[in-house]
Amino acid sequence: MNFEHNISILGSTGSIGTQTLSVARAYPGISVKAITAHSNIKLLEEQIREFKPKLACVTDEKAASELKTKVADTDCRIVSGEDGLIEAATVAGADTVVTAVVGISGLLPTIAAIESGKNIALANKETLVTGGHIVTRLAREKGIKILPVDSEHSAIFQSLQGNPKKIKKILLTASGGPFFGKTRAELSDITPEQALKHPNWDMGAKVTIDSSTLVNKGLEVIEAKWLFDVDIDQIEVLVHRQSILHSAVMYDDNAVMAQLGTPDMKLPIQYALTYPDRLPMSGNELDLTKYGELTFAHPDTDTFYALELAKKAGREGGILPTVFNSADEVAVELFLKKKIGYLEITDSIADAMEKVKNIENPTVEQILEADKFAREIVYNRS
Ligand code: NDP
Ligand code: MG
Repeated sequence: MNFEHNISILGSTGSIGTQTLSVARAYPGISVKAITAHSNIKLLEEQIREFKPKLACVTDEKAASELKTKVADTDCRIVSGEDGLIEAATVAGADTVVTAVVGISGLLPTIAAIESGKNIALANKETLVTGGHIVTRLAREKGIKILPVDSEHSAIFQSLQGNPKKIKKILLTASGGPFFGKTRAELSDITPEQALKHPNWDMGAKVTIDSSTLVNKGLEVIEAKWLFDVDIDQIEVLVHRQSILHSAVMYDDNAVMAQLGTPDMKLPIQYALTYPDRLPMSGNELDLTKYGELTFAHPDTDTFYALELAKKAGREGGILPTVFNSADEVAVELFLKKKIGYLEITDSIADAMEKVKNIENPTVEQILEADKFAREIVYNRS
């Protein structure tokens, strides 16, 4: 099928970024105008040579100047730092920006991309968690689309097609992570190596740890609130160990529409890039008989209380969701460096949330200040 789409990928060297490039490889009509990495210039160089973008950004300045020398024989312009990321987000000729960087670093470039009229294929959930009120308002004003890449949100979006947009409930599924069924006491000496092993998905380090603590599901609850304009209490999280039913929507007549498939991020990525078309996809077809049964259960929110903290942050809004996320970003970093224990990740978030005075309807500057505040609190604990 002849399919054309011009894109820019923020975070092309990561798990979502490389899978986006696999989709682009399968559909040569997808033209990649800009790509970015933080420091992995070896992979970025390979991507520059294969996809021939006109712009590439490396946010780490030293790595950027190294890459400049290495690709001097190409037509690709190398930029660096946060300004470079914004250049990649607003690059001329791209219609859609795939936001696949990790953490709050996605906020400013996503706002810049929307301001310059680009549609967003949104993987970076932290953008909506921290600045959902600003980003969704701006998207409406500019008449641009935010297409979800996160598998659960893509499933909800797919379940909404052809149906009224009025949702009674969202059923947001969670794999439960590697520590499902464990008690708090059993989690006290979990190591980074254990937490980095996700049962069903192969993802970047932060989102893998976040999946194990249910922080990721908490972030996804807030992401769903903004994407689908629902209240936090209309979102029900269900642990579904097989990761086959990627989420569902319940309508006023109690009908439930869901999207099912094998756990493969290439489908939501491809759908976000080809929407409203459905193009052929190589890879595993779903064979339901292989699973036999699909199970659903309520999460254990006493042990994994990060989910309740996220709901509180989502209900109260303001800068609290930013504090939730930024405290987690630092806590995960410290846990991976073995500076704090596993249970301290969620404890650090709770601590930062308790210490902050909330601000209603924050500006971008206030969000960035809240980010700094939360980071300092968590660093100072360790
Ligand atoms: P990865 O850690 O695999 O990749 C992150 C990407 O961002 C890399 O290209 C990395 O560059 C770059 N990066 C890292 N730090 C910075 C920074 N400070 N500034 C700019 N760029 C940076 O992450 P994932 O692909 O797993 O996740 C990306 C986003 O997508 C996250 O928000 C995550 O929650 C979301 N998501 C991911 C899913 C998945 O299956 N992986 C599923 C659903 C959502 P470098 O390689 O040089 O470090
Ligand atoms: Mg997800």
